[in-house]
Amino acid sequence: MSRREELADGLAGVRRRIAAACAEVGRDAEEVGLTVVTKFFPATDVRLLAELGVTDVGENRHQEAEAKVAECAGVGVRWHFVGGLQSKKAAAVAAYADVVESVDRAKLLPGLSRGATARGRELDCLVQVSLDPPGAEGRSGVPPEGLADLAERVTATEGLRLRGLMAVAPLGVDAAEAFDRLAAVAADFRTEHPTADWLSAGMSGDLEAAVTRGATHVRIGSAVLGPRPSIK
Ligand SMILES: *Cc1c(COP(=O)(O)O)cnc(C)c1O
Repeated sequence: MSRREELADGLAGVRRRIAAACAEVGRDAEEVGLTVVTKFFPATDVRLLAELGVTDVGENRHQEAEAKVAECAGVGVRWHFVGGLQSKKAAAVAAYADVVESVDRAKLLPGLSRGATARGRELDCLVQVSLDPPGAEGRSGVPPEGLADLAERVTATEGLRLRGLMAVAPLGVDAAEAFDRLAAVAADFRTEHPTADWLSAGMSGDLEAAVTRGATHVRIGSAVLGPRPSIK
């Protein structure tokens, strides 16, 4: 099988899963955007994905992302930055990203703002919410009690456009339970920010749990691209 056929197969499988999860809860599959996370995979895969109809790709490491964006000049995809971000890299990321999904602290905002303004366009931002049990040492994200303040600061920052929330289900926790909590946080958040209605949740292993709980965007890597090499 050619790489193109492998990717087409992977995409078809993921699209079927999204459609089935939507059908389960009476949602229209068109409501769920697919971001293919291409970290560790080459720019040639991004080109093939674009030819196969993918409009949004995700990356989680600045150096790799920056290089890949440059290699993909002319490929019409939107780039989502989904990884942990150092504040000193924030301006550089804003120079190529169309969406930064991992805004998890106020310290990132000045750099993101500078990068976006220098580029002369608004940067779509999602605030990453932590779904870790209180006190747990886990993946990044602002704890729900810090969300209102951080979201307010994003809306007050020049060059940034608050679009919604992103979350990753914690390891070792039932994803359905985690995404139930996320749905409650998101409902509350939307009363304050009704137009910031994106909810990015769900990966290869748990997309159904996320889609049935209201995710508007899923971030899928291995189910489309195959297993990632563990060391680069
Ligand atoms: C890698 C990654 C994904 C995709 O993970 P898969 O399990 O391969 O689908 C999604 N979100 C984030 C933040 C990631 O870093």
